[in-house]
Amino acid sequence: MVDHELLEAKLNEEARKILALIKNDYYQFFSDKKREVIDSYLNGEKVVIVNRGVSIYRDNTIAHGGRTLGDGKIHFYPDVRDYSSTEEAFEKCKGLLPHECFHFFIQPDDLDYKEEDPRRPIAGYYTEGLVEKEARKFYEKHKDTVTFEKANYGFNINFVNMIQARVGATEYTDIFSEKKYLIDVDKYKDEYESVLESKKALLAKVPELIKVFPLSFQAEMYQTIRTLIKQDGSLDSAIQKINSCKSFRIEDLDDPDDPDV
Ligand SMILES: [Zn+2]
Repeated sequence: MVDHELLEAKLNEEARKILALIKNDYYQFFSDKKREVIDSYLNGEKVVIVNRGVSIYRDNTIAHGGRTLGDGKIHFYPDVRDYSSTEEAFEKCKGLLPHECFHFFIQPDDLDYKEEDPRRPIAGYYTEGLVEKEARKFYEKHKDTVTFEKANYGFNINFVNMIQARVGATEYTDIFSEKKYLIDVDKYKDEYESVLESKKALLAKVPELIKVFPLSFQAEMYQTIRTLIKQDGSLDSAIQKINSCKSFRIEDLDDPDDPDV
């Protein structure tokens, strides 16, 4: 049983810990508007809301950022998973907070594209990549104090790296500015399509890769290997995983959640 109120209190405390670190690291690069946002959270405004039932956004979504509902809060939906205790839910959910917190400050898709605008998915894809890239860097720096679970945005990060190489601007003042890269998002259509193609091509290799496992575990390994490829945007960690499982034991198999953030 999950105590929703307790979980919310714990996640708010954890989120403020992360926001304090973000403030310490990046405040100088923030606009006045973003400084106001982070200060109000650190002064006690609620950061996280824990909802009952399923997400109105998409049924199997465990978390999403504040912009989705336009209320500036990170929303969690613990009921979409089968957690046996509040502590277990907290351990799973808190790893998503660094990514979600960076959404408050990295918002280059703020261009008011209409629903049917073809530029909209490209901008969204880019934003998720940039958010996840910075969240991973942040975690590398604060490993000792912060919990982090990779989102499946490895290919989005590949896309961001292509654009940053092309634009030649990776300064934090650029990264935290809303409209730096994507004013003319059409420019990046080719890169976007090539990243989607490479994702498709790498995922298509999975059935072949899992053949080294006994038939009864192939279904489970199928999910694990797909997740690793999506997280890294490459085959590297999937191959590593397969090699590490060669002296095959059932305990080696992960059951990675597939958090949608
Ligand atoms: Zn996200």
